[in-house]
Amino acid sequence: MTEHYDLLVIGGGSGGLATARRAAQHGARTAVVEFDCLGGTCVNRGCVPKKVMWYAASLAHGLGDAAEYGFDIDVRSHDWSALVEKRATYIERLNGIYASNLDKDGVTHIRGRARFVDRRTVEVNGSRYDADRIVIAVGGEPVVPDIPGADLGITSDGFFELTECPRRVAVIGAGYIAVELAGMLRALGAETHLVLRRDAALRSFDADLGSALMETLAEDGIEIHKRMPPKSIEREGDGLRLQGDDASIAGLDEVIWAVGRRPRTANLGLEHTGVELADNGTIPVDDWQDTNIDGIHALGDVCGRFELTPVAIAAGRKLADRLYGGQPEARLEYENIPTVVFTHPPIGTVGMTEAEAGEAHGEENLRIYRTRFTPMYHALTAHKTPAVMKLVCVGAEERVVGCHIFGHGADEMMQGFAVAVRMGATKADFDATVAIHPTSSEELVTLK
Ligand SMILES: Cc1cc2nc3c(=O)[nH]c(=O)nc-3n(C[C@H](O)[C@H](O)[C@H](O)COP(=O)(O)OP(=O)(O)OC[C@H]3O[C@@H](n4cnc5c(N)ncnc54)[C@H](O)[C@@H]3O)c2cc1C
Repeated sequence: MTEHYDLLVIGGGSGGLATARRAAQHGARTAVVEFDCLGGTCVNRGCVPKKVMWYAASLAHGLGDAAEYGFDIDVRSHDWSALVEKRATYIERLNGIYASNLDKDGVTHIRGRARFVDRRTVEVNGSRYDADRIVIAVGGEPVVPDIPGADLGITSDGFFELTECPRRVAVIGAGYIAVELAGMLRALGAETHLVLRRDAALRSFDADLGSALMETLAEDGIEIHKRMPPKSIEREGDGLRLQGDDASIAGLDEVIWAVGRRPRTANLGLEHTGVELADNGTIPVDDWQDTNIDGIHALGDVCGRFELTPVAIAAGRKLADRLYGGQPEARLEYENIPTVVFTHPPIGTVGMTEAEAGEAHGEENLRIYRTRFTPMYHALTAHKTPAVMKLVCVGAEERVVGCHIFGHGADEMMQGFAVAVRMGATKADFDATVAIHPTSSEELVTLK
């Protein structure tokens, strides 16, 4: 017999859980299918464990500066495995909270892997479930390139399984996950190599941020290998050798692939539904998270657009509000989405880069305000990192269409500035705001 629901959500990650809970709160009979731990990538092998490691790395940086602030301390070692154990306990607790939240909202959790058998029906462990509507929120997974020995490397998933800090590690990739992992590994004691296909990291971010970061990564002792597309990984004695065209890195304990993610659409049985896929396997949706098939929706990383937890959550809640909450106009606006890169120091960014604004509005209509300074924290420290800030303004009224920060505290600064940018603040609004002193963020309201 087939069990029937108003809404069936495939994937119990950030987007799927948010959709299912909101729909159930509106009264829809809802089930969510998940084969793995509840919470998805973010909770189990993404944002959450990463932020724990980032806090540990922040402490390592702080301990490095402590003597200059008068502390007489001797740090003998760092117990990576103890940290990982505590992190796992925290994540287990979160998994439990997600399960009890589903219970509270009356959402059924179907354990297993879902596969479509037709447009309204999925099969999980041999049982069939049908629904008036189905939401695909299956997320993505890390890509491992097809080169000899690639399997000797690990991905970000494997990074979170490491029980000790590798002595020598190469992180391959130029995106935010690559630079975050490289930074944390270095801070926690690994000899770290960052291997780039081209010349720079974070190429989709504003260029000023990328270059400040590259400078800082190198100063922190990360060895950056530019223009070294990997050709193979070989086992050599106790270690691994990463081979490029004409250079190689030997004696590595780990090689970490951070070269991109792909949507988990391959074994979903989508061929039984008529849902169209893009060439890269993502599911195209319109502004309403609707696929080309009536009654089938998709959201989150599987759509390949702004692959961030709050985006998946917001898209899911809006969709549920529209379908079951009497809010026919509810939809997520994919503009001015702020994001942070958790490096040391971090990057916070919202809106257009200078290059994007030039293309959209014409370079002659832009006014760029930028500053670079040494944050006061470093007045007393030998090891210094810069702060770089930039406002991208458009038109005679100088509307701020982009705000970019590299520096201590950028992660916590950005949320408030994102509100201002979203509301259409102008440079004059920034200037009219009284500064908070002494902070780094005051520089953004006093830019000349
Ligand atoms: C290392 C790393 C760091 C990150 N850091 C951040 C960060 O700091 N901030 C941020 O905002 N984002 C971050 N992200 C991105 C964030 O994790 C994702 O954008 C977010 O998890 C996407 O949510 P989702 O619901 O689309 O997919 P997911 O959270 O991936 O959930 C999809 C779920 O679907 C399940 N599933 C897949 N196929 C099936 C099936 N056939 N049947 C049943 N279940 C299925 C999966 O097991 C998974 O649990 C990070 C990602 C990574 C990898």
